[in-house]
Order: sequence, then structure tokens, then C-alpha cells
Amino acid sequence: MVVDEIFELVSYRIHPEPHIRLNQDVCQGCTHRACTFACPARCYTWSEERARVEFAYEACLECGTCLLLCDRGALDWHYPQGGYGVRFRVA
Ligand code: SF4
Ligand code: SF4
Repeated sequence: MVVDEIFELVSYRIHPEPHIRLNQDVCQGCTHRACTFACPARCYTWSEERARVEFAYEACLECGTCLLLCDRGALDWHYPQGGYGVRFRVA
């Protein structure tokens, strides 16, 4: 299965408040920006225009990859409140 096919198997109930927050001050000193390469939902992107990592929590698959990879402690990571977030269905 390729990553894009995952989105055919999920739906979301999005909470208005992000369940993951990143500390931009910490990210500014990050040399690898692993989150921008590893997130399967592409929630993290590098903005040349704003010279910062942009984060959109809405498509998060709650896989935990970013939390494992961030070696600078930039993430305040929680699962969404009960009833919110991603829902997986079996094909
Ligand atoms: S890996 Fe961590 S510190 Fe580096 S850009 Fe991503 S969230 Fe920020
Ligand atoms: S938990 Fe997974 S899907 Fe969600 S932002 Fe982190 S890497 Fe991306």
C-alpha cells in the first residue's frame, strides 16, 4: 500500500484545538527537520517564504513518528480528545 492510499481508509473528526504543538524557537535550531520528511500525512512542511516549519494537525494519523524522531523535544504531543481525530476502517 502506498501512503496516499491510506487516506482512502480513514476519516476525521477534527477538534478545533491542535493535539500536537511544536515549539518554533526549538525548531529554528534544528538542522535535519526530520519531521518534514517522515510524517506520512505530510503534516510538517518547510516554508521557504516564512523560514520556518509549518504544521497542520488536521491530517494527523496519530502514528507517533514525529514524536520518536524529534530529538530536540520540540513537540507537545497528545492524542486528540476522545471522539476526535482519525478513524481507521478496514477495507
Ligand atoms: S524534528 Fe523536531 S525540532 Fe526538528 S523541525 Fe521537526 S519538530 Fe522541530
Ligand atoms: S503523529 Fe504521525 S501523522 Fe501525526 S503529525 Fe506525527 S508523524 Fe505525522
